[in-house]
Amino acid sequence: MADAAPLTDSRTTIGELKSLIQEFVDEREWGKYHNSKDIAIAISVEAGELLELFEWVRENEIPGLLEDPDKRRHLGEEMADVLILCLNLAAVNGFDVAETVGRKLAMNRAKYPVELVKGNYRKYTELRSRKDAPRDG
Ligand SMILES: [Mg+2]
Repeated sequence: MADAAPLTDSRTTIGELKSLIQEFVDEREWGKYHNSKDIAIAISVEAGELLELFEWVRENEIPGLLEDPDKRRHLGEEMADVLILCLNLAAVNGFDVAETVGRKLAMNRAKYPVELVKGNYRKYTELRSRKDAPRDG
């Protein structure tokens, strides 16, 4: 794989990524450690490392932070760690990632209908209770 062309979203399928991750795991005989619980824990640990990049950073400092090449590279690496582990969890449990993401997006569309949430970040339970509540005045 080292001599292959760089991976890109436009040419690389999710299945190919899962195969590359499986190859990485198999070469190291790490499959024996990759049970669902430990992968889920590792996802949380890596998500913590991702969050650490933003710890104590003020909102107005974030754009500058993301323009710093080293910080941007680091963000990509931590994001990749989370994605790799999520793909590994999918593989270990036989999930088809595209089908799973597509099904969850459909659920989210139903939960967050555009006419209710457009331009509003509030959680659906709060918005629904407001919609059903009697209006003031
Ligand atoms: Mg990491």
